[in-house]
Amino acid sequence: MTPENAATDDNAVEAAKERYRVEREKRIRAEGKSQYSELSGKFEEFNRDPYVEPGFTRDAQVEEVDVVIVGGGFGGMLEAANLRKLGINSFRIIEKGGDFGGTWYWNRYPGAMCDVESYVYLPMLEDTGYMPTKKYAQAPEIFAYCQLLGRRFDLYENALFQTEVEDMAWDESAERWVTSTTRNDVITSKFVVIAGGVLHKAKLPGIPGIENYEGRGFHTSRWDYDYTGGSPSELMDKLAGKRVGIIGTGATAVQVVPRVAEAAGELFVFQRTPAFVGYRGQGPTDEEWFKSQKPGWQDERIKNFTRAVCGEQPNENLVGDEWTTVMWTDTTKVPDSPEEGADLERIDFELMEAVRNRIASIVTDADTAAKLQPWYGVRCKRPCFHDEYLPAFNRENVHLIDTNGQGVERITKNGPVVDGVEYPVDMLIYASGFEVAPTYDRLGFDPKGRGGVAMTESWGEGPHTMHGVMSRDFPNLLMISTTQGGFGTNFVHYLTEVSKHCALVIKMCLDSGIAEIEPTAGAEEDWFMVLMGKVAGVGAYNAACTPGYLNAEQQAGDMKAARAASFMGSVEEYANHLIRWRENVELAGVDVVRVG
Ligand code: NDP
Repeated sequence: MTPENAATDDNAVEAAKERYRVEREKRIRAEGKSQYSELSGKFEEFNRDPYVEPGFTRDAQVEEVDVVIVGGGFGGMLEAANLRKLGINSFRIIEKGGDFGGTWYWNRYPGAMCDVESYVYLPMLEDTGYMPTKKYAQAPEIFAYCQLLGRRFDLYENALFQTEVEDMAWDESAERWVTSTTRNDVITSKFVVIAGGVLHKAKLPGIPGIENYEGRGFHTSRWDYDYTGGSPSELMDKLAGKRVGIIGTGATAVQVVPRVAEAAGELFVFQRTPAFVGYRGQGPTDEEWFKSQKPGWQDERIKNFTRAVCGEQPNENLVGDEWTTVMWTDTTKVPDSPEEGADLERIDFELMEAVRNRIASIVTDADTAAKLQPWYGVRCKRPCFHDEYLPAFNRENVHLIDTNGQGVERITKNGPVVDGVEYPVDMLIYASGFEVAPTYDRLGFDPKGRGGVAMTESWGEGPHTMHGVMSRDFPNLLMISTTQGGFGTNFVHYLTEVSKHCALVIKMCLDSGIAEIEPTAGAEEDWFMVLMGKVAGVGAYNAACTPGYLNAEQQAGDMKAARAASFMGSVEEYANHLIRWRENVELAGVDVVRVG
């Protein structure tokens, strides 16, 4: 997929742009993000944790600690590990699931894996000495690695599992946060770090009649192996002879489809927008290479990967996989000249054309292949890389039900309906993704800061933060979040940087007698200007994209929505803002109250 060598006809680029426009417009829905529904009400059962034994009880915990950490996924675990490294051991982790892992605790669907190279995705490999078994780690290995991190940093003794925060309020006179939970714990702390996750609140498509379906239905993040049989790594034997439907063809479905295809009697894949599916190239870890790495190798490789996928074209491409090849040029860049603009369009077109040609060369039925071809720009949706997804459509038992961009029409008690045709299925899988909303909408609780004012109220006109980490009137509350915070292809790179930052802020406060810290209103506005300054190129590019969660379903946003933006530059650039702030001994942009 090297774009330079193809002499592309300008007409082909223009024709593709026109096709992109048609496909995009076909998909825009007036309801925008509200076309989806939560896993609540009638669908509460969909949200149940299927991985724990029911009936767990324990005594309520009443205690005081230095730090409460909300969330035991990679964000919360890295926060805790960084605190330990700095000698801060008085912390409590509150986690909804039955173990550490977050995303990797919940997502146990067959075929689940991380599409980012394991040597840059799995954090702290040099601390743990762990060697990933494969270039792209499978979900069970990542979950086990989370448990290993938990043991390595003695985090289990600090964790309260199967516990959710119910309320969190700042006690002005005591200068403490008071956190209460669903298990009647009351924990008082100097600081709280909210690491509540980003893509963790599952959503269902709001398809008419969805509540009438009488077969077995569930979201991919709550896989029911009791029904399907098998396990993440074994054939789902109970699906033999069954008719299965899957709604969605995003990054999750691309991983699930091949595994269900091999087990089910018939599989119907309901597609609204085809995925970008590039070459994967999975392989075992070369032990000799891994062991030959010099200290500091992982940090260097992580940064190199981020530079490559942000189009910074580092001198050497250390990871050298399809992610880095595809993202090598930032085609969302604001061009300096019309010639550069034309060049970026050509590169983008050639990358997508290569994907379309690859599909046509793998999928034998020409009509199916054409329907699987994506018609949008390379950075419009998260690209997927998989070597078994496309061949699955060559199987006799796999049927692509393309909805021509309209989505499933309705669901009856028997199954989905498309173009007036009902597809009765025994089991219906919703691979419909996760909600992307500002922090407070996803947490399940509403922190109350100074004067008892809730975050939803304080952020009534939109989020206000410094770095996405601290918010005025919420002293000593630190957030690991994409709301005004960073974002990246390798999300763990972002978590690594921001968790380190939060730990260093806490350490600095504890060591220098700072009892309260919060940003000034001016610093928050300055940060918002930084965020807005990064939006320009991506905004223009996104406007021509097919809708999806990365562009808020192409719904016209107001200022409140705009204020929830993430930092659109690279994780490294974002981290440099944090580093510069920490290195400024004047504590710029914050108000502090000293102890005593
Ligand atoms: P997505 O939001 O990417 O996909 C949801 C799918 O459901 C889309 O194909 C969407 O179509 C489809 N859909 C929604 N409504 C309807 C409808 N009414 N009828 C038919 N289809 C419908 O969710 P995923 O869970 O696939 O992925 C979410 C994110 O999770 C990824 O982008 C990635 O960031 C992360 N992820 C990462 C992985 C990794 O390896 N690192 C693996 C898996 C997920 P449409 O596109 O038209 O909206």
